[in-house]
Amino acid sequence: MALIVDVFPAREDNYGYLVHDEASGRTAAIDAPETAAIKAALTRRGWTLSDIFITHHHIDHVEAIVDLKAEFGVRVIGPRDEADKIEGLNELVGDGDEIVLGDSKFAVMATPGHTLGHIVFYNAEGGHLFSADALFSLGVGRMFEGTPGPMWEGVKRLRELPDETLVYCGHEYTESNARFALSIDPDNEALKKRAAEVKALRAEGKPTIPFNLGEDKKANPFLRADAPELAKHYGIEGAAHGEVFGAIRKGKDTF
Ligand code: ZN
Ligand code: FE
Repeated sequence: MALIVDVFPAREDNYGYLVHDEASGRTAAIDAPETAAIKAALTRRGWTLSDIFITHHHIDHVEAIVDLKAEFGVRVIGPRDEADKIEGLNELVGDGDEIVLGDSKFAVMATPGHTLGHIVFYNAEGGHLFSADALFSLGVGRMFEGTPGPMWEGVKRLRELPDETLVYCGHEYTESNARFALSIDPDNEALKKRAAEVKALRAEGKPTIPFNLGEDKKANPFLRADAPELAKHYGIEGAAHGEVFGAIRKGKDTF
């Protein structure tokens, strides 16, 4: 039996996700952006919340933990390296750990940079990656806590996942990511194609999530920090790839 993913908007521009393991009937919320939005999604599906998996400590990803825990008595799993910043965690995990939800398994991968202890959840069997603020469509999260080198290494490991992987990220930032990406990588055909598709989706008020990882590998400048044309754009040909990644991140910050 399969893992079913429910996608719903929350807060201003967050996405909330429920993952439902059909075999056991267990349902986990990936992050806890907003109590009302999560409860509405549960009601719409007729599922009961059993678990919450947390990616990082920012308020727009943890705010509903305490309420949901009080109401549903759920198991809350989160990043060991941010345990002191998150209220209500029951189980702590880190890179290389595996989380079991009924018959479904999620590999925990460390993606430091947006926050130092940020983790993502990868369900290999279904080909689902829950990337929160580590990897967006055509972008990555702002580097609040980390440094470019380790952030690039984390992102590069996500790039090694299969092309057919569907990525579920934390925010609808794709259209502004596309504008920036086109400004630094204007001749990239895969990027132009994705940017046009994103524009059409947003014009109809539709989400750009989930997105295909294989297409993002070709179009997302942050996944292409080792492409010579991007080093050239910043005039740092031959620089370490982490340094190019840092230049792209800085470029986006001031775009
Ligand atoms: Zn965040
Ligand atoms: Fe966020």
